[in-house]
Amino acid sequence: MNHKLYSNLIFELSHPGRRGYSLPKNQFGHHEIPAELKRTADAELPECDEMTVVRHYTNHSGNNFGVDNGFYPLGSCTMKYNPPINEEIAAHPAFANLHPLQPAETVKGAEEVYENLQQSLSELTGLSRFTLNPCAGAHGELTGLMIIKAYHESRNDHQRTKVIVPDSAHGTNPASAAVCGLNVVEVKSTPDGLVDVEHLKTLLGDDIAGMMMTNPNTLGLFEVHIPEITKLIHDCGGLMYYDGANLNPLLGECRPGDMGFDVMHINLHKTFSTPHGGGGPGSGPVGVCEKLVDFLPTNNCKAKGHTGTAITIHPYHGHFATYLRAYTYILSLGRENVKKVGPYATLNANYIMNSLKDVYELPIDKVCKHEFVFDGLKDKSTGVTTMDVAKRLLDYGFHAPTIYFPLLFHEAMMIEPTESESKDTIDGFIDVMRKIAEEAKTNPDIVKGAPHETPVKRVNDVEAAKHPILTYQQLIHDNN
Ligand SMILES: *Cc1c(COP(=O)(O)O)cnc(C)c1O
Repeated sequence: MNHKLYSNLIFELSHPGRRGYSLPKNQFGHHEIPAELKRTADAELPECDEMTVVRHYTNHSGNNFGVDNGFYPLGSCTMKYNPPINEEIAAHPAFANLHPLQPAETVKGAEEVYENLQQSLSELTGLSRFTLNPCAGAHGELTGLMIIKAYHESRNDHQRTKVIVPDSAHGTNPASAAVCGLNVVEVKSTPDGLVDVEHLKTLLGDDIAGMMMTNPNTLGLFEVHIPEITKLIHDCGGLMYYDGANLNPLLGECRPGDMGFDVMHINLHKTFSTPHGGGGPGSGPVGVCEKLVDFLPTNNCKAKGHTGTAITIHPYHGHFATYLRAYTYILSLGRENVKKVGPYATLNANYIMNSLKDVYELPIDKVCKHEFVFDGLKDKSTGVTTMDVAKRLLDYGFHAPTIYFPLLFHEAMMIEPTESESKDTIDGFIDVMRKIAEEAKTNPDIVKGAPHETPVKRVNDVEAAKHPILTYQQLIHDNN
């Protein structure tokens, strides 16, 4: 790896007059761009030869870490394998060349994919209908809460302004509620990590719009009191929202719709093996029970009885190539294999948990689902923190787990292996975690100073957050 090349921005490699492209012959005739739309000065673009561009981006990509490089046990994120067949289908020219403004009669195949995926998700979750349009889990939450709000408004039930959210919830839950103009009320967890039903009872009233729940929750525990909770919320006139980010261990086993949930989102980039983040756009389909179907966002129809404007959350139909990947995944597993996802993910998580609980603190020691949470190293006398362990894992070629979330434990370390990992990989991870626990005793400085092997060493998080360098200009300036 040439670190000089790596550290350069493409702009810094630019030399006037160098070219790395050749355009195809114009097939469309000559069209003059109106003078008022033309640039007055040349765009400031980097000028590089093709090989420089290829090396520059190849070297950058080599510094990335993804599921294709190694084990990525990032709790709550379900970093499962993204099978290449998904990419093959998504890249098929018959799909890839579609345009959202094409005449409807020319996109019947795409419509069928949308409809079939929508139906598969309905069948897997027990809800009546899905919109695939939202672009992420958080976007789905916002959409779902807008549906809940629109439902109450359609009944002239205007005083319902509060949403109940467990203290173990993902940060997007209260954030989505706030963006939707609703007030967040927090319900506590019991010491064994489940929603505290007695505390919940004290929060109920005719101002409750609904409650958001994640199941299994962010501690990887199945919320066994759901039937009682959904009854309490429904009896006071509220609706139940299911945060489906953790749907993976329940696939084909049990369904949120059957548990009494009215609205839910699914993260296709988690449970349905489509890429996260830089690997491709996310997708957060939202499903609803029968009585809410008319409130789903559509491009032009208004929900019956809904007096406000129809909900619009995305132009056109969302991230279609992502639907193709998710639908390919569902079809390639098939009805029988889809039922193996949950048990294997659960087995892997319990195996890691039990293999490490003598050296890492396990605050809630019971059978977990697809993930679990340690509260740092068992031996706190070494001064080695969860952050140090996470950084040291990078030296051994593993991505760190999710750390300092959920907020219920000071040294939280949330581990989710997913079903796709082999026993060899998982055993390798367990060995390294034990080795780091040993290093914490015998050579704590090596852990506290980690990572030592990565191109960028330990960054000062506080400094990076307080004085972020956000512009190219400033970066050059600082380097000089
Ligand atoms: C990932 C996650 C979200 C948010 O989903 P995004 O797709 O990242 O917006 C919400 N809740 C939980 C429990 C999650 O794990």
